[in-house]
Amino acid sequence: MPASSHNTLQIGDVHITGLTDGSITFDPRILFPETPLEAWSPFHDRFPEYFEGQYFRNNLGSFVFTSNNQRVVADSGYGPHGDMIGYPAPGELIKDFERNGIGLDTINTVFLTHLHGDHVGWNLREDLPERPVTFPNARYRVHEADWNHFTSKELLDDPVGSETTQRSVMPLKEQGVLDLMDGETELAPGITAFPTPGHTPGHMSLLIASNNKRALLVGDILGSPMQATETEYRYTPDWNAEMGIKARKTILDQAEKENAIVLGSHLSYPGWGTLIRWNGRRYWQAL
Ligand SMILES: [Zn+2]
Repeated sequence: MPASSHNTLQIGDVHITGLTDGSITFDPRILFPETPLEAWSPFHDRFPEYFEGQYFRNNLGSFVFTSNNQRVVADSGYGPHGDMIGYPAPGELIKDFERNGIGLDTINTVFLTHLHGDHVGWNLREDLPERPVTFPNARYRVHEADWNHFTSKELLDDPVGSETTQRSVMPLKEQGVLDLMDGETELAPGITAFPTPGHTPGHMSLLIASNNKRALLVGDILGSPMQATETEYRYTPDWNAEMGIKARKTILDQAEKENAIVLGSHLSYPGWGTLIRWNGRRYWQAL
């Protein structure tokens, strides 16, 4: 068992390492067009690591879960694909695996919360000329509703809208390493994927439950830590705004009721915290 450090967490028998593809800094109005910049000011002191002036500094996180000699990685970052929503993305995830001494060939399962570009970017080794799969011994898992949505004729006919899918998702199918899920699925002992549609049609979250300890990986249900408080702000990446809000409220209520740690790719690195109440409002707070 590795010694505990700032980017590791133990939930019962499940060991978690927080990894990052780096972060991007951007104007929040791109993703929250109806929310004026000043609306975020009350959060500046609470999340100093998340703000650069009035801009967001958004982590592009991945997580490695180790349970009973099985390893699951959740999401694969944005990758070295240049700008993301108009701002440069660093593409550091492979280096971060190396820094943390986690061999890419030790991963058994790659769980994709959903098929947006900042979660699938390193499915393939974009730094190698032949672009092999990044995790040579892994099955890649995604909900079939996301596969069906992102590979629909309508989306594939749009060269811009389908760029990510063509580049980072279709090759998984072609190489026979993709397994679709149609509902709740145990990925390893104590690690269960379950559908939380709204952000995308097949968005999934993870429940980590071991020895009476619990954690929930909520994917992009929380695209930023502030959404634990401001659940109703319109978040344009949500495929279905109403379902997105409903999923957000449901999983936050669940986490609060079960006293579960809440993990997310876009929560402040290393990406986990608890829900607290302060002045009658709910906040995510880093551990
Ligand atoms: Zn995302």
